[in-house]
Amino acid sequence: CAKREGRNRVAVFEPRLREVQLARIGIRDALVEAIASGQLELHYQPQVCARSGQLQGAEALLRWTHPTLGSVPPSTFIPIAEEGSLIIDLGRWVIGEACRQIADWNRLGFGHLRVAVNLSMRQTRDEALPAFIDEVLKATGVPAHCVELEVTESVLMEDTDLAVSQLARLRARGLKLAIDDFGTGYSSMAYLGRLPIDKLKIDMAFVQAVPGEGEAIATAILAMARAFGLSVVAEGVETAAQRDFFREARCEQLQGYFIGRAVPAATFASEWLQYPAGEEGRSPPSWDAP
Ligand code: C2E
Ligand code: MG
Ligand code: MG
Ligand code: MG
Repeated sequence: CAKREGRNRVAVFEPRLREVQLARIGIRDALVEAIASGQLELHYQPQVCARSGQLQGAEALLRWTHPTLGSVPPSTFIPIAEEGSLIIDLGRWVIGEACRQIADWNRLGFGHLRVAVNLSMRQTRDEALPAFIDEVLKATGVPAHCVELEVTESVLMEDTDLAVSQLARLRARGLKLAIDDFGTGYSSMAYLGRLPIDKLKIDMAFVQAVPGEGEAIATAILAMARAFGLSVVAEGVETAAQRDFFREARCEQLQGYFIGRAVPAATFASEWLQYPAGEEGRSPPSWDAP
């Protein structure tokens, strides 16, 4: 009986596995097509000064609208692209597009804005990445300090020396570096001190556990960041209470639905870049003085 059950289980399981695999191959082919035929778009989510609420930059987030499947979330397609070299092409498209956008905004007088771009694991380790970025910066005329690269802790866990030397090469060009989703990996204090980075992004799981157990973790991360001379962004800020907590804790920047969602470049410009050159941008309407 046990044997039969076992066999049944296999019989049910195998076709499913195959289906899943086929779906993955399908998505991979569709992604190749997406890059070539303009189905990809970057959306921009504002990052504001926690103290003043003024706009300081944006995170570029990849959006894919497939002609029949509709919108496919990055959490679905990034891991599939990451299985092969497709992630390199995808990542290069993102960097190129973000820099073209920064150049446009700079021409409009918003030269103080910094755009953060997510790097995948493979992309971070791609030895050709620094030279590729050099080319893009040169072609678009974007200063390196206008670009921030976000890497996750997991990138640094495997072969830390390689990751560190690669990040150092990027930072030597003047690019800013941030650790995304900080606190969810296994970063030890020992290596945080020797990482060539500028910023930590507190994972939204901790931010959203404010008020509550997230407070102690956030406070500890902020203290550690200060000791290492790093600036901190709280991401996933959804409530006024969270905004107030991080502002009072002297966190430098905020990002999250409470401030604004990721929107297409044109919407970002009309909602966030409405002030003439020289001004730092607006504060959200919900912002009140501390
Ligand atoms: P991430 O880099 O940590 O980006 C933050 C994610 O949280 C985004 O989801 C954003 O829309 C969402 N988010 C922002 N504020 C809030 C909030 O207040 N509440 C909640 N619930 N969510 C919020 P998104 O755009 O779906 O991206 C998911 C992940 O996909 C990103 O996480 C990043 O790891 C990856 N990703 C997105 N674009 C790219 C890209 O161009 N390249 C690479 N390699 N990965 C990307
Ligand atoms: Mg990110
Ligand atoms: Mg994150
Ligand atoms: Mg993430």
